[in-house]
Formats: sequence, C-alpha cells, structure tokens
Amino acid sequence: MTIDAANATKKYGVAVKCATITPNAARVEEYNLKEMWKSPNGTIRAILDGTVFRAPILVKGIQPYIPTWTKPITIARHAYGDIYKNVEMQVPAGAKCEIVCTDAEGNETRKVIHQFGQSGGIIQGVHNVDASITSFARCCFTYALDKKQDLWFAAKDTISKTYDHRFKDIFEEVYNAEFKAKFAEAGIEYFYTLIDDAVARVVRSDGGYIWACKNYDGDVMSDMLATAYGSLAMMTSVLVSPDGVYEYEAAHGTVQRHYYKYLKGETTSTNSVATIFAWSGALRKRGEMDGNDELMAFADRLESATIRTIEDGVMTGDLAAMSTLDNVQKVDSETFLREIAARL
Ligand code: NAP
Ligand code: MG
Repeated sequence: MTIDAANATKKYGVAVKCATITPNAARVEEYNLKEMWKSPNGTIRAILDGTVFRAPILVKGIQPYIPTWTKPITIARHAYGDIYKNVEMQVPAGAKCEIVCTDAEGNETRKVIHQFGQSGGIIQGVHNVDASITSFARCCFTYALDKKQDLWFAAKDTISKTYDHRFKDIFEEVYNAEFKAKFAEAGIEYFYTLIDDAVARVVRSDGGYIWACKNYDGDVMSDMLATAYGSLAMMTSVLVSPDGVYEYEAAHGTVQRHYYKYLKGETTSTNSVATIFAWSGALRKRGEMDGNDELMAFADRLESATIRTIEDGVMTGDLAAMSTLDNVQKVDSETFLREIAARL
C-alpha cells in the first residue's frame, strides 16, 4: 500500500499523507500484523528520493523558547541513505573487520575498520549516492530561491574527510554551476559551516533561513526546533522530490495517547493545525500546478482562519498550556475545528 501511495504521488505530483504507524512488537499484536513492517515514511522517501522541509507555524501568544527566534527556521532534511539504510553487526572479541569494495571489473579495495581485541563490539556500514546528494543540493537551492531565504548547509567534514566532505563538495559544485548568479540576483546567500558551528549560530540567530541537514542531523534537529518553537503540532512538513513532486504531512505522529482516550469515549484536545496546513499546502500547490487561483486563495483563507482562531484565544490544550494571551479558551478537538470553520 505504501509503495502504491508513493507511485501515485509520482503520477499526480501532489499528495497529502496522514501520520502512519511504524509498528513495534506491541502494534504487531494490537493490529494483528503479519510482520513488523518497515516505516511507511522510510519506504515512501526511498521511492520519491526527496528532501523534507520542515517549518514552524508562528502565531501571536506562543513564544519560542529561544526569544530571538522571531522568524521561522526551515530545516531541509536529506531523506535518503546514511544510517537509515545501514548494515550493522555485533562482532565478537578478536574479530578483524574490513570494508571491502568490489568494483565493476571485480577489483577489490579493502580498509580495516578495526581489529577487535579482548572486547567484541559493533560495526556499521552506511552509504550515500552522488545522484541523491546532488538532487538534495538542487532541491535546497531551488527552495531557498523560491522562499528568498539564505541557505545554510552543515556537516562534519573535518572528521569525515571523505564521506561528509563529498556532501560539501557536491553542494559547492551545484551552487557554483547553477545557482550562484541567481542567488546574487535574489540578494540571498549560501554558506557551508561545520555542524557544531551551525548549531551555535542557529541558537543566536533570529531565524528566517533554510538549514540543510544530512539525514540524521535533520531527524534530530527538526524535533529540537519543533519543540523550541512551541509545539510539535505547529510544525509543517513537505517532501520535495528532485522531479518536483510534493508530499505534504504534519510533522507529528498519530498522537497515540490521545487516540486511546478517544476510543474510551473521553474528549480529547488534539491540535489539528499541522494537519490543516498539510492540506492547505497541498491544495495551494495543486492550484499553482493547475493555474487554479480560487483554490490557491482558499488555501490562504484556510490558513489565516486557523491562525486567527488561535490569536483570538481559542486553542487546544497543548497551546493553551503555554499561551501568553490573557483570554485563552481551551477547547476540544472538534470545537477547535468548528471555530476555524466559522471564521473561514
Ligand atoms: P506523536 O504521535 O507525534 O505524539 C507524541 C506526543 O506529542 C503526544 O503524545 C502529544 O503529547 C504530543 N503531540 C503530538 N502531536 C500532537 C497534536 N497534534 N496535538 C497535541 N499534542 C500532540 O509521536 P509518538 O507518540 O511517538 O508516535 C505515535 C505513532 O505515530 C507511532 O506509531 C509512530 O510510529 C507514529 N509516527 C508517525 C510519524 C509520521 O507518520 N510522520 C511521525 C512520528 C511518529 P501529550 O501526550 O503529552 O499530549
Ligand atoms: Mg525525529
């Protein structure tokens, strides 16, 4: 089903994805699954080979934990390879572990990873592909131009002199060959820095730029940013593939804890903003592709009605707990949607 969904996304160009379950042992039992299926997101991302852009939705009354962040920081996460496609092993004491590369002619190149002594341990093999890194770079530069925002890219090339350095080089090649002049014209800049330097700069910044991250950095940093901006439920997420296919989703999961309360008949106060913005983002993109101005205007109205509802003081429990407005009215999931509909 997830493979069909990814192929349909390629066919139609725009998709909205609900949060999906990555089953663990408990879920296999609960839903009577035949196996512990892999992450649906992982499957879809591997087929679309894209970049995931995550940006927070800012509203009056919800202050980021970092007070200088007055503009959104968008994370661009490479969605292919590295540890998400790893091969790993636990190895016994005395084991000699090597990387072996057999080229197309059958020639072998070997490098010793480690000669284990008294203690066994663990090893891991990861890879990435030039074509995927190139399309990641191109997606980021294109998105930055589209948004007229600076682009930062960070990795750890001082330590990983071949692997991470390749990312840095490819970004630079793509930038110089295809984007340098366009960036100058748009008055925006691209720069590379070390990941630890980037983290320090991000905290001191006022936002308003795109931060391109390798797969793992993007996974971790997007959760950090979502929390620091206030709530996981206020984070939008869109996967952009190199051939211009867009898949919109909320950044959060199925909110399992709330769902079980709902099943027991209790009222829930679950925040639907990120899901609404997944739909408005997709409808706007559809409108753009089809030249349908009314559909694009509807997407704008839906987003502004949603923001207005919260700025009027009507919000779900997660936001009510941290709002600085003095007229806060905490409502349940359904009332929140009705309040938005009334304003729309
Ligand atoms: P989650 O669904 O994102 O929820 C984690 C917690 O964050 C919730 O318990 C809730 O906190 C808060 N939260 C998240 N979204 C919220 C919302 N819209 N409104 C209010 N509060 C919200 O993550 P999870 O519980 O770790 O994972 C649940 C399931 O979702 C798992 O099966 C996982 O595989 C899946 N998942 C899917 C995706 C995806 O498809 N993109 C992403 C992540 C997880 P409180 O409980 O404190 O209220
Ligand atoms: Mg994560």
